Order: sequence, then structure tokens, then C-alpha cells
Amino acid sequence: MTSAAVKWMDRLPAWLEESRKQAAFGQVAAYIPELAKAPADALGISILDGAGHEIAAGDSGLTFTMQSISKVFTLLLALMDNGEEAVFRKVGMEPTGDDFNSMLKLELVEPGIPFNPLINAGAITISSLIHGATPAEKVERILAFFRELSGDSGLEIDEAVYRSESATAHRNRSLAYFLKDNEVLGEEIDVEQVLDVYFKHCSVLVTCRHLARMALVLAYNGTDPITDKPLVPRRFVQIAKTFMVSCGMYNASGEFAIHVGIPAKSGVAGGILALVPGRYGIGVVGPALNDKGNSTAGVHLLRTLSESNGWSMF
Ligand code: GLN
Repeated sequence: MTSAAVKWMDRLPAWLEESRKQAAFGQVAAYIPELAKAPADALGISILDGAGHEIAAGDSGLTFTMQSISKVFTLLLALMDNGEEAVFRKVGMEPTGDDFNSMLKLELVEPGIPFNPLINAGAITISSLIHGATPAEKVERILAFFRELSGDSGLEIDEAVYRSESATAHRNRSLAYFLKDNEVLGEEIDVEQVLDVYFKHCSVLVTCRHLARMALVLAYNGTDPITDKPLVPRRFVQIAKTFMVSCGMYNASGEFAIHVGIPAKSGVAGGILALVPGRYGIGVVGPALNDKGNSTAGVHLLRTLSESNGWSMF
């Protein structure tokens, strides 16, 4: 990295400790019982540049499940499997301004399609579009894609988190059956099987470094800059990054765009995947969440970094 970069890199550990204090204003997600076991005051970050140099600080070795962060990548796979037109027959392109698992607006877009692919209803619909002869094959294809993007062939599902979500997902089940009633999930589709694929991709276990590497591929428009391998068509990465800006931080995406100004996606296990276009892939974890479902300390740390380095795209 350049010498200008060295300055902020040296300050990162101190910034992280300052941001860690924000964990006190959040709470670990408990609606998936297994997630409640996460350490509330943990905060870790990994930043990767295009040459593969990593800067890490805090609890960057902590493992956690991707949760909603996985939705960005199942969207990419669905686009690669079906093309843009077919995907947008089933999901919309607009933010909702509502909670990620809200049912409020499901009837409002014709014909009852979810507003966007990053809310739960949209991501469940996207799961139904992933190619594969059986649910197991779909999950294997998703895992293979995530492994390739993260550069780790050992990436796996956290079975305990998967089982915990599946056993308690009454709200997601009702969303999915509602989609079935609206024929967004067609006649041939088994709702429980679609949900199972969704719960499994939410339960992929990662560290900040995995997220940073996946984000790096997006930062470089679909080509892994470390291996020079093209992994995702540029147009689909452009679509994914646009959704990250408009809907990636749930109904706090507008506020995040003003304060931080980079594409990002959060998950209820406390992860945030973010990127600085053409420069960095970033993975953050801080399990304590605000009332919108975003990591309190993680958002604070990204804001500090963006303000100090002039990262905002706007
Ligand atoms: N698996 C979680 C759910 O469906 C993902 C939600 C999230 O990270 N916001 O509730």
C-alpha cells in the first residue's frame, strides 16, 4: 500500500477501540436463539487491497454466519443462472423503508413481487431461482460459488445456526407461504425446500477476511484482482453494488449512504461487507446491533474510516 495509506493503517487499532464502545448501545440478535451466544463487545475488521495485502485489527479472527450478507451473492448467482430479465420478473428494484422481514409492502408491487432482493421476501424468492436438480445441489452450487469468491475451499455451513433458524423461522415461513399464494413461488416450487436453501446460505460461517475477499471481487467489478480470474460479469456486479447502496443496510441505507457513502451489506450476526470501488474489500464484525439490525460498533468504525480517508463515493 502507498505511504499515505500507512498513516491511517497505523491509526486503525485506536479507531477500532473507540468504535468498540458503541457496542454498549446495541444488542446481539436473539430471534435466532443460536446467535444470542455471540460476544456482544467483539469488534474486528479486515481490509484487503488489490495486491492481497491485508490490514486486520481487533477480533478479526472471530467466526460468525453471513446471514443477510449472503443475499448479495445468491442474487449474483441467480443473475448468472437466469439472466437479468428473468430475475426482475420475480423481484423489484426499490427500497422499502421497512424492516428486513416486514410483510407490509408485499402486496404493493404487481403482482405481489417483493420490492427488492435484499429483504427476506426477495431473498427467499431469489433462492428459488438458483439452478440445481435438488435442494442439496442448489446449496452445493451456492457453497462452491462462495468458496471461489472467498478464496477458501473449506467454507462450510454452521449446522447449529442453520438448525436454530429453521426451528424458529415462523415469520420467514409466513413470508414464503404468502409468496406461494401470490404465485411468486410457482406451482412446481416446494416452499419448505426453498426456505431450507435460504436458511443454509444465511448460515455460511466466515471471518472478516472471507468477507473482505468477497468484497474485493465486487470492488474490482467481478474479477478477483489477486488471481486475475473473472468470476462474475461486470453488469451483475453493478446491479449488486447498486442494491447495496440503496438497500444494503436495511432501512438505514440512506443514513449510511450519507455518513459512510460506500456499498455495504449487513447481517444480523453482526457482519458488514463493504468495499471501496477499485481499491479495498472490507469485512467487519460486531455482533451488537441497533434497532435497524446493523452492527453499532461496525457502522461507527466504517464511518470513522470513510470520513478520515475521504471514501464516500458521493
Ligand atoms: N437469516 C436471517 C433471517 O432471515 C437473515 C436476516 C438478516 O441478516 N437481516 O432473518
